[in-house]
Amino acid sequence: MSAPASTPPAEPAPSAPAPTRRPALSPSRATDYKQCPLKYRLRAIDAIPEPPSRQAVRGTLVHAVLEDLYGLPRPERARERADTLVEPAWRRVLAGRPEIADLLAEEGHEPFLAEVRALLDNYYRLEDPTRFSPESREARVEVELAGGVPLRGFVDRIDVAPTGELRVVDYKTGRAPGPAQETKAMFQLKFYALAVLRTRGILPAQLRLIYLADELILTYTPDAEELERFERTLGALWAAILEAGRTGEFPPNTSRLCGYCAYKSLCPAYGGTPPAYPGWPRGTAESAEETHAEAVAD
Ligand code: SF4
Repeated sequence: MSAPASTPPAEPAPSAPAPTRRPALSPSRATDYKQCPLKYRLRAIDAIPEPPSRQAVRGTLVHAVLEDLYGLPRPERARERADTLVEPAWRRVLAGRPEIADLLAEEGHEPFLAEVRALLDNYYRLEDPTRFSPESREARVEVELAGGVPLRGFVDRIDVAPTGELRVVDYKTGRAPGPAQETKAMFQLKFYALAVLRTRGILPAQLRLIYLADELILTYTPDAEELERFERTLGALWAAILEAGRTGEFPPNTSRLCGYCAYKSLCPAYGGTPPAYPGWPRGTAESAEETHAEAVAD
């Protein structure tokens, strides 16, 4: 496929020596591989960091504020109180990645924080946080499926009803999916449902995606048989990734999403040259390939 004659974006920062890590499937990494095997490789195996995006940072900040909000006693979770959590959360996010400040150098951070407060306004129109307390917030789930498929991800919130029923909640700060993206949203929901089923042995009663920008809630009621089929799908996907990892065959797959790809300058489909394949990571320690910030960025 021919490459468009556009100026390539700045090349991603060079790869630091990859930490010893064991790749696993997360919703983001699974989506990467399905979209473009080369993108998956550069992100998950080469561990080449992507420059932060304004949208991703906004997502990280909103998640941090909602996590802090649900850490307060129920009566204190009034709308005005949520606003007081924005600045401290912003300072924490900034301290973790100081280069984020460059993103907002021109406009200043106030308009950005105003957007976050507007998303909180929307949130309060969708849920009343004074009426319930979640069982967990921003919980990391990690489980190995039958056949050794490792799943890993972060669940924004798990609510447990007095009857013991589980509800898994995911906040989204991007736009709600149109028909073309619904498959991606459904994939993510099934992923979390399966992870919860296999870690707790309980089929969640409901999965809820909360699209803050559009004030929209998508719900899904998982079905055990459907999740078993999905488990087999993940098994096939993981087998394909392992085989690619063995051979080093991660071909580029061009699509309109290339316009958003941080690795375009390294992509042969656009005249770039990727680094030599470093081989499949052999470590058994923590994975560096799915950070919390990435997990909430969509
Ligand atoms: S630019 Fe497109 S084809 Fe190339 S790595 Fe990125 S997503 Fe894949």
